[in-house]
Amino acid sequence: MVRVYLDNAATTPLLGEVKDAMKDSMDLHFGNPSSIHHFGRITKTAIENARKSIAEKLECSISEIYFFSSATEASNLIINQCVQGLNVERIITSPLEHPCVLKAIEKEKSNCEVVYLDVDQEANLDLEQLSNYLENPCKTLVSLMYVNNELGTINPISSIYQMCQEHLALFHTDAVQAIGKVPVNLSHGGINFMTASAHKFHGPKGIGFAYINGNNNINPSILGGAQERNMRAGTENVIGICGMHKAFDLAIEHSLERMNYITSLKTKFKEGLLALDKNIKFLGDPQKTVPHILNVSFPASEFAEMIMFNLDINGICASAGSACSSGVEHESDVLQAIRHEKGRKAIRFSFSHLNTKEEIDYTLEKIKSFA
Ligand code: PLP
Repeated sequence: MVRVYLDNAATTPLLGEVKDAMKDSMDLHFGNPSSIHHFGRITKTAIENARKSIAEKLECSISEIYFFSSATEASNLIINQCVQGLNVERIITSPLEHPCVLKAIEKEKSNCEVVYLDVDQEANLDLEQLSNYLENPCKTLVSLMYVNNELGTINPISSIYQMCQEHLALFHTDAVQAIGKVPVNLSHGGINFMTASAHKFHGPKGIGFAYINGNNNINPSILGGAQERNMRAGTENVIGICGMHKAFDLAIEHSLERMNYITSLKTKFKEGLLALDKNIKFLGDPQKTVPHILNVSFPASEFAEMIMFNLDINGICASAGSACSSGVEHESDVLQAIRHEKGRKAIRFSFSHLNTKEEIDYTLEKIKSFA
C-alpha cells in the first residue's frame, strides 16, 4: 500500500547517516562517560564533540548547551527554576504555546502571576501589549515559541528579545520547530533559554538540548551524579546524543536547500488545493510561516468531516487540529485562540525533504476523489 508521510511536524524519520552514527556509537561508546579509563574517555569525548558542534553552529559557548531527554523536560525545568530559583514574579506567554510550556507555566500559577498575550486570527502576537506589560518593572520571564507547531507561524524573535533586554526580562523560547527551518543564532545574547528536540530534525526520539545562557544559574530538578555539569543527573543517552549530533549538523548544513525544496512542494500543494476549491484557506500569516508546515482549513461539508478518515485509509498521514471525545469535536487550543471558524476542518500537513513531488500529486489526486 502507498504510504505518504505528511506529518513531519509531529516527528521525522531517522536519516541513514544518523542511523549510521548511532550504530557506530553502539559499538564504540559502551563505556560510562563518567569513568576516567579509556572506554569512559572515548564516550565522554563523543558527548563533548556533540556539544561543541551544536554550540559552534548556534554561536554560543560550549558550556551553555545541556542535553536533556526531550524539549519537554528542558522547558519544564527552565520554567520551574525561573520561578523557584530566579524568583520570577510574572510570566508572560501566549495561548499558542506547546502544552509542555503551557502546563509547566500553569503549575507555577500559585507562585507567580501569569499573563497571556492576545493573538489575532493570523496568530500574530500583540507586541504592543507585551511592551505595555513590560513597563511594569517586576521580575519577569517571557516564554514565547520561535515557530508555532500547528500553524508554522514564525514569531518576531528579535523584536521580542530586544523588548526583554530593554526591560531586563528573561526570555525563553521553544525552538523545537525552528531548528534547521529558520536561521537560529544566539550570539546576540538576547535569548536566555532555548529548547530543542532531535526527533523534529531527523534525529532520534528521547533526546533534546537546552541553551542556558551563562548568566542565568538555574538549579537541576533531577538529582544524582554530576552529569551535564550538575544540571541533569543520570548517565547520558550517548547513542541519542551522537544521533542528534549528526542530525543537527545535517539540518544546519543543508537547511537552505531543504527549505527551498520543501517550499516548492508546499507551493505545488497549495496551488493544487486552491484549484480544487477556492474556499480552502491556509491558516496563519502566509508572510511569516516556515516552509514545512501548512495548516489547511476546509469549508464545512460532509467531505471535510470525513477527510482525516479518508486520508488515513488512502495511506496519507497528516494531523487533525481537533480531537473527538465523547462524540463531541474539540478544536485544539491554538485553533480556538485564532478563532478558527466553527464547522470548518483544519488539517495540518507538514513536509520534509524526503517527500517527493509524486507524493504531493498522489495526495491531491486522492483529496480530489473524496469530493
Ligand atoms: N515544543 C514544540 C513546539 C513541539 O512541536 C514539540 C513536539 O511536539 C515539543 C515542544 C515537545 O518536544 P519533545 O517531543 O522533545 O518533548
